Amino acid sequence: MQNSSHVLVLNCGSSSLKFAIVDPRSGRALVSGIGEALGQADSRVKWKRNGESIAKNLPAQAKHGAVIQLLVDEIIAREPSLKSHLVAIGHRVVHGGEKFSHSVLINQAVTDAIRECSALAPLHNPAALAGVEAAGSAFPELPQVAVFDTAFHQSMPRHAYIYALPYSLYRDHGIRRYGMHGTSHRYVAARAAELLNLAFNEVNIISAHLGNGASITAIRNGKSVDTSMGLTPLEGLVMGTRSGDVDPGLLMHLGCRLDYSVKQINDLLNKESGLLGISELSNDCRELEQAAAHGHSGAVLALEIFCYRLAKYIAAYYVPLTDVDALVFTGGIGENSSLIREKVLAHLQCLGYHLDPEKNLLARFGEEGGIHRDNSPAVLVIPTNEEWVIARDAAALVPPEQPNGDSVSRE
Ligand code: ADP
Repeated sequence: MQNSSHVLVLNCGSSSLKFAIVDPRSGRALVSGIGEALGQADSRVKWKRNGESIAKNLPAQAKHGAVIQLLVDEIIAREPSLKSHLVAIGHRVVHGGEKFSHSVLINQAVTDAIRECSALAPLHNPAALAGVEAAGSAFPELPQVAVFDTAFHQSMPRHAYIYALPYSLYRDHGIRRYGMHGTSHRYVAARAAELLNLAFNEVNIISAHLGNGASITAIRNGKSVDTSMGLTPLEGLVMGTRSGDVDPGLLMHLGCRLDYSVKQINDLLNKESGLLGISELSNDCRELEQAAAHGHSGAVLALEIFCYRLAKYIAAYYVPLTDVDALVFTGGIGENSSLIREKVLAHLQCLGYHLDPEKNLLARFGEEGGIHRDNSPAVLVIPTNEEWVIARDAAALVPPEQPNGDSVSRE
């Protein structure tokens, strides 16, 4: 890697595109921004450069390509050094199915494989491919790398990822547990190993990524051995608007007894449940904490269920790990909510967890560190940094320069 190499990191959603130009050595973002409401009348881009925030409207119905064009014309053209230091483009890709257990340089076979996995992530994978195409047109000279949310969990053993359904559903249709948030779990587990002075391939971690989406992973010897999300991100923990685990019999009940359509069931479980559904107030943890402090019973109940369910998963992950070096909290809630951490750990005294209340209160707004007492298993708060992982993976896969200045493709 050259000293001044930078990576353009792209995270394409169905109607958004997050971008950042990241130094893969330090993780520092030189520019970061987001294109929002893509494909709609009010599509727009916001970005930050040198502490300044700038916003610009895009033409109506603008798509991912328009955001990348604005990045080229309005941001990079004004600072040619930004372009001269770019060595690669790293894409977050949600689903790599069973085809990808690592990040890869993108070529035709890789784009075909990402397209084949679209059945498993129908909103996200096509958006990532739109980003690959647009970035390839704007920066034809730069190698592109795909970093998959599912890849880290490909190390799960079969008994953790096969559902107790007819085996033919797995064999013929790929129906199994895949897990998500792999980039985040990988980052915090590696950082925890550093903080604990342990080799990554020897560390045992339970990492809880708690944002609007939430998942928890058991990591043994640096490898994911179980995770709470499944075929889709709906399985597992209580989330902002997702239910997490429910009795599958609920689906028949809703469909047959209450006449819900498939779309209504989908919306109910993904968009109307979780913290929002229970509280009947908000999916936002901060807002719920404030409401709970003023006695809002829905908010109190939502936070109680969130913490209880999370604590049960943490305890369950002692089964694949037996020995846990640290429990890690990350994501917007995990990094900032001392209340959630306190409530979760109160459920875990049976496993010897004891919180240090002062350290717990101080660990927020990007602060990293331990929040446990001396007589407790380690509990760490580690702000996640998925962009840094993507930048590092992309920089590491850049084909080496030849003496004549040409680069060699590894594909
Ligand atoms: P996403 O999954 O969209 O990336 P984030 O990781 O940004 O989500 O997490 C968003 C969640 O973090 C929201 O529920 C928000 O209320 C919560 N959060 C952020 N800051 C705090 C805070 N200081 N206290 C409690 N919750 C917080």
